[in-house]
Amino acid sequence: MAVVTCDPATGQPLASYPADDWHRIDEALGLASEAAAVWASTPLVQRLFLLRSAGELLTERRDRYAELITAEMGKPLAEALAEIDKCALNCQVVASQAPQWLADHDVVSGAARSWLSYEPLGVVFAVMPWNYPFWQVLRFACAALAAGNAAVLKHAPNVTGCALAIEALFAEAGAPDGLFRSLVIAEADVPSLTARIVADDRIAAVTLTGSEQAGSAVAAAAGAALKKSVLELGGSDPFVVLDDADLPAAATAAARSRFGNAGQSCIAAKRFIVAAPVADEFVRLLLDEVAALPPLGPMARADLRDALHGQVTRTLGQGAVLLTGGAPVDGPGFFYPPTVLDHVEPGMAAFAEETFGPVAVVVRARDDEHAIALANDTAFGLGAAVWSRSSRGLAVGRRIRSGALFVNAIVASDPRLPFGGVGRSGYGRELSAEGTREFTNVRTVYLG
Ligand code: NDP
Repeated sequence: MAVVTCDPATGQPLASYPADDWHRIDEALGLASEAAAVWASTPLVQRLFLLRSAGELLTERRDRYAELITAEMGKPLAEALAEIDKCALNCQVVASQAPQWLADHDVVSGAARSWLSYEPLGVVFAVMPWNYPFWQVLRFACAALAAGNAAVLKHAPNVTGCALAIEALFAEAGAPDGLFRSLVIAEADVPSLTARIVADDRIAAVTLTGSEQAGSAVAAAAGAALKKSVLELGGSDPFVVLDDADLPAAATAAARSRFGNAGQSCIAAKRFIVAAPVADEFVRLLLDEVAALPPLGPMARADLRDALHGQVTRTLGQGAVLLTGGAPVDGPGFFYPPTVLDHVEPGMAAFAEETFGPVAVVVRARDDEHAIALANDTAFGLGAAVWSRSSRGLAVGRRIRSGALFVNAIVASDPRLPFGGVGRSGYGRELSAEGTREFTNVRTVYLG
């Protein structure tokens, strides 16, 4: 069996990769487990040297890697270059900060001395998506490897070239054999083989970024095997504009947040909850921003575009008003235009479901209380943004349930800050000290 990738800008096949059978997976798990044992006792400074080297290679080869991202999942080259640069930055940040993040932490107790030490778990199995094919992987891998673990990756099939390029990147940066492996799994085998990998004794922990369905399946397997899991799932982030907001700044940020990566981001602003007195003006400014956008890349797959269009059609059928876009672009490739739906209300499809594409929905709020209620009217809880010129921004934001709150700024991940959600957006954290410690045994040491 093979995994075939395709160019989403044309719909044409790109490459075919032979899929791994259980025999090859078994071999990879064996090597990873041996590498993990050696890596755990490798001095931290040497482990971090690997990340520094990987960061330097990313910078040296940024054009090549960016072109691969663009070819496989369609984002414009400038966005792909920015993704690679962020991966290189993450390597540097983890390499310089991990000595603090992973240092023993003294705690005063009844002991002569007691402390916490952060010790590796073993092999971390990662299931990753295609929307940021390098970033999503480097985000978990830098943390896992710095903490002394090995890693085995099952990437999304449409970015198999990226998965293998990342495996080669770590090998060329000096990783011992087996420390970072990318598995290629044929679509039909994904549920059974990933469940078998999770259950395998050589796997210590699991991390997944993707949909609720995939998260639930992998977390169920981890739960059955009593293994730690971290889930970074979807979001339907509110972007709340209060009546005292800087509207031009908010509209510029709104367009950047919603339409970057063709809207295929878990932390993109998705529901624009705008105070009624300023809603018409905000919408006018947003439409200006949309008209000035550079051309969006295609969506990553035809089925994702079709699903998004289905959400738009249902929302319009439920009474929303279409202001721009709203139908797939004719011709080759999986393009969908920037779309704005106004007068969206709770219960409508594009409010109740995550929209993973270039569709902004505007919801009008009567007052701050109503805005908070609308923002919280979701099972997700990843990021939230609030725009206001006064202290009301923070006060409103504090009452919204989310893993991150940004006031007068776009929700974005930062290697120095923890990243993750609550509710159906998942659990656990990535990045920063918290993310690096997720893949450790927080061990209590007590000297009597
Ligand atoms: P998926 O969640 O299906 O894919 C993400 C990863 O999970 C892929 O590697 C996929 O592999 C794997 N996966 C899926 N099902 C299982 C399973 N039962 N067991 C083990 N692994 C599994 O996302 P899609 O690509 O289908 O996108 C669908 C929706 O998911 C989007 O519209 C969006 O809402 C959300 N999503 C969220 C992301 C985020 O950043 N939080 C990223 C991508 C998607 P395979 O494809 O081989 O099944």
